[in-house]
Amino acid sequence: MAKASSSTRSTNQTPPTLTHQDVIDRMTLAEKAALTSGASFWQTQAVERLDIPSIFVSDGPHGLRKQSSSADHLGLNASVAATCFPTAATLANSWDQQLLYDVGRAVAKEARAEDVAVILGPGLNIKRNPLGGRNFEYFSEDPYLAGMLAAAFIRGAQSAKVGACPKHFAVNSQETYRMSIDEVVDERALNEIYLEGFRIAVQEGKPWMVMTSYNKVNGTYAHENPHLVGDILRDRWGYQGTVVSDWGGNNDAAAALKAGSNLEMPSSNGISPSRVVEAIENGELDPKILDRRIDEILTLLDAARPEAFHPEDDPKVDFASQHHLAQRAAEESLVLLKNDRGSLPLDSSQSVAIIGTFAKTPRYQGAGSSLVNPTQIDSALDALHQSDLNIIGYKPGFKRSDSPSPHLAQRALDLAAKADTVVLFLGLDEGAESEGVDRPHMRLARNQLSLTRKLIDSGARVIVVLAGGAPVELPFADHVEAILHSYLPGQAGGTAIARTLTGEVNPSGKLAETYPLRYSDVASAHTFNAHEASAEHRESLYVGYRYFDKIGKPVRFPFGFGLSYTDFSIDQAALVWAEGKATPDAVRVRVTNCGDRAGSETVQVYVEAADSPAQVRAVRELRGFGKVHLEPGESVETVIALHDHAFSIFDVEGEKWQLVGGDYRILVGSSSRNISQTLTMTVEQSPTSAPWQQSLQAEELPDYRAGTVQDVAQAQFERLLGHPLPAQDWDRGAPLDENSILAQLPGHSLGANLVYRTITGTAGLLDQVGKPILANYCRFLLALPLRSLSRMTGGSISVAQQDKIIKWLNGK
Ligand code: BGC
Repeated sequence: MAKASSSTRSTNQTPPTLTHQDVIDRMTLAEKAALTSGASFWQTQAVERLDIPSIFVSDGPHGLRKQSSSADHLGLNASVAATCFPTAATLANSWDQQLLYDVGRAVAKEARAEDVAVILGPGLNIKRNPLGGRNFEYFSEDPYLAGMLAAAFIRGAQSAKVGACPKHFAVNSQETYRMSIDEVVDERALNEIYLEGFRIAVQEGKPWMVMTSYNKVNGTYAHENPHLVGDILRDRWGYQGTVVSDWGGNNDAAAALKAGSNLEMPSSNGISPSRVVEAIENGELDPKILDRRIDEILTLLDAARPEAFHPEDDPKVDFASQHHLAQRAAEESLVLLKNDRGSLPLDSSQSVAIIGTFAKTPRYQGAGSSLVNPTQIDSALDALHQSDLNIIGYKPGFKRSDSPSPHLAQRALDLAAKADTVVLFLGLDEGAESEGVDRPHMRLARNQLSLTRKLIDSGARVIVVLAGGAPVELPFADHVEAILHSYLPGQAGGTAIARTLTGEVNPSGKLAETYPLRYSDVASAHTFNAHEASAEHRESLYVGYRYFDKIGKPVRFPFGFGLSYTDFSIDQAALVWAEGKATPDAVRVRVTNCGDRAGSETVQVYVEAADSPAQVRAVRELRGFGKVHLEPGESVETVIALHDHAFSIFDVEGEKWQLVGGDYRILVGSSSRNISQTLTMTVEQSPTSAPWQQSLQAEELPDYRAGTVQDVAQAQFERLLGHPLPAQDWDRGAPLDENSILAQLPGHSLGANLVYRTITGTAGLLDQVGKPILANYCRFLLALPLRSLSRMTGGSISVAQQDKIIKWLNGK
């Protein structure tokens, strides 16, 4: 039933008229080929004789990471001071498109001031599994939420005349072996889950650039994948901007251009341009395709020309007001997960003990290429000391790394015994989540859990403030008074936390992902990182709440959940229909603040097909949301627009979305499991019984109908895919080649073993001496393909030398 996803078609074989025909006619083949690769680590190539400028691009998604001297894509070397905003995982909890626009614009203003033309963000891959190492850089498990927030960020950045670059297109679901892994996903899940956010970001945000991912998607590297870049991004979505590789993610430059990609970054020191010239000369690559790709690059360079800037776009940056925006962004994004007996806000008449190293040394961003060098850092401890709370002391309580610290714990317990309330700062430490490595488990450090247990057993009233960019198991959740989740709130997060604890700020964040009770509950728990060569997305559509709600599994906190210090009611819901339309465009609803504090509520609209429980389909899906701010007692009517695919599924055969007829329930509420209003409606049934309609019934896919997808048998997954599974693990008998990664070295020769052991041994040593971030960077190296030896070393290793090294590693 499914179509094989790697087509051999190349895009735009007969291009329409080129915008820059004149310039292209005057370019030599060598100049064109050079333009498709970087000039340096961060700069594109210039052609001075034709007035083609070079532009500077920089990370990143939640703040500028401009490196003026030594460059790297791991966040190792210094970058200019910049405002560190909350990371995407945090901002997503705001569910606030205007806020995302403001943050995008603010990051772009700093970029403009530093002559950076494009910022390499936002990141919007789907959080397939809570252990994904880069989840802190991504928005959500839901593509509509992720896509709408990404589009707002892009519009904001580009309003300041700096390009945005959504990444990593696509299915970058894991960090382990990210440069070689084959992400195997069926075509419907690919389109409905993994691509839909990108579609929205591209069509609504109109980014100047899109960055492909390192991984393969169904057998072909994303950057040279004609189905992904050609058929879908270019032809189906009509994208006319520049498609850039992730850093070092270009394999075959000719294949990439044919697929629809334009630019390799960073420079491969002439390797890829030579390949392009060769491919044109031997007829492998149509010169018209190269011209088309050059035209798209020239459009990007035009957009970045200073003449395009308006005089009122003042590049001068006021870092104090940027910091203030970072604080507001954090305040809108903190999530109050629990608040028994109104324990929060804290009462100034009570004595408070502050425990946990995260209070003093905040965890406010993640590691890797998104690492920002902040202009200042607010700690919650300092901010709390400035409040009128009666703070009787602070104790770190535990060591940052997970080593036993009985003395620290005892001192914390002694302090706690003297206080009415303990505010306990827990979290994932700097080594626990990073680009390049997935988390090995979903637990907090043992020393933190042990201290929490002891504090609870001592009878203390414990309020937990949690830090970390992805869900953790919370075995203590039922035994503490309150939990405030700060995620990774950026450089002003400490102030935002203190103001929320004291009640100056009323929390309004809502989880943009489900908090499972335990890791083993997750749909992909058994398949995530199960193999070396491929990552089988056997759970298909059932990611996050789509899985938990399908089989009614209990969760710790549902998708969309978050408390406030006030109460809201949602009522009088009604559908809004435009003349002659088969489906409603929006839902109108009344929201009332029933309490005595001002606050904000996010109204969420889920669409549920009456037949969905027995179909290959999630039970309910987020199809609209909107945030409203209300004064005490205030009541407003708000209109929530519905997603244009609210009643559709992706038709694999027809390669398009199809409206599905039948009875529907429209659920309006404040989380995927807290519904206040239910409306019913019918979509006219289409008389045909096309294959896409049958795909919903699919007798041959019983687990996909039932949602029992944790252990789908190979045969059933292959039926869904429409083709046999590719190899799951590396062929250890095959010699290493330039696309083998360093993790594949063991067993090939003494030399290969030695190199591998040196890297892993160094990582282990760095862990032991308390340098977890550096240790992760070492592990990061293991994912590098051997082709990086010549392409990522600034010309110090030639292809011939690389070939010799590969021979040596093969024991020859
Ligand atoms: C990351 C990208 C980043 C690039 C440049 C890569 O390792 O995956 O997200 O933009 O480096 O730093």
